[in-house]
Amino acid sequence: MKRSDRPVRLAILLLAGLGLSACATPPAATRAEAPARPAWALVIHGGAGVMDRETMGPETEASYRAAMQAALARGRAVLDTGGTSLDAVIAVVRGLEDDPQFNAGKGAVFTADGRNELDAAIMDGATLKAGAVAGITGTKNPITLARAVMEKSPHVMLIGAGAEKFGQQAGVEQADAAWFFTERRWQSLKKTLKEKGLPVPARPAGVGPEPVPLAAADMPFEDRKYGTVGVVALDNAGHVAAGTSTGGTTAKLWGRVGDVPIIGAGTYANDKSCAVSATGTGEYFIRLGVARAICDLVELKGMSLQQAADEVIQARLTALGGDGGIVAVTPDGQVAWSFNTSGMYRARQVAGGEPLVGIFKGEP
Ligand code: ASP
Repeated sequence: MKRSDRPVRLAILLLAGLGLSACATPPAATRAEAPARPAWALVIHGGAGVMDRETMGPETEASYRAAMQAALARGRAVLDTGGTSLDAVIAVVRGLEDDPQFNAGKGAVFTADGRNELDAAIMDGATLKAGAVAGITGTKNPITLARAVMEKSPHVMLIGAGAEKFGQQAGVEQADAAWFFTERRWQSLKKTLKEKGLPVPARPAGVGPEPVPLAAADMPFEDRKYGTVGVVALDNAGHVAAGTSTGGTTAKLWGRVGDVPIIGAGTYANDKSCAVSATGTGEYFIRLGVARAICDLVELKGMSLQQAADEVIQARLTALGGDGGIVAVTPDGQVAWSFNTSGMYRARQVAGGEPLVGIFKGEP
């Protein structure tokens, strides 16, 4: 064989080999084991943190469980009727943003200077389009603004006043500071600032004077609960999407942006791997690129979704000193959650299966 013939012969051999392996019939066992993809799947979180059944009390526990069931029902209504994963994400997140029990939209935590600065993001696994907003103070549902950024602007992320102006022009519903205010979050801010020896700012305009005495429901949170909300969904067409919305962390410095609107940190979706929504101390999730890291392990290392989630949350996040968790779904219908805190409000359901709701560690 002439030296110059060699590459041609090699290429022919390679092609023949590839053809053979492509035509080869997989062993019967492999074929039988491949599970059918469920028509849809939905996994939701309502924040992770220190959660203890006794401190929480039966009424609060029941109320959060009911909120998680209601969130599942909203997503199920979209997916069961052939709606898209993006629409399911919006339906679920908007409902949780309007629920004052969660740290997103109404009921968000306050910055150290007494304002609500909200972050949100959404991502479409089919197109890799994403929309994110940060430092939002006057938009009722930040997740809807994030979707408008994704669909109606040439950008991925808008912040502060510019984001609000864009939202007004796009017809996104506005709200004033009083809409987001809850006495309980205000009392939590006061408690945190006093513990840190920092001054307590004036109450926001339009919320009235502090009630004396405080009702039991207005007492500051004892435990460190986050309450960010997030959803991942798989739809009938096989597309995944993720969305997350938060007020951030109590007494954060004004202007601080967390992981939620950072694509790949707190929110990520890709039809080639998975969709992830995170909750926890955002700084760690940003540094580890948590959501993207999980999807990369699925795509590039062939890990199952649960293995990948545990590798990033239980091993990497814990090793760095971070706390929190994630929910995730793959286009083939695997669902997972993983958290290294004592609790995470969470719920999931797969088409044809039963809803599953949990709060504390050790529940199924
Ligand atoms: N990850 C959010 C943030 O750091 C907070 C949370 O999940 O509770 O902004």
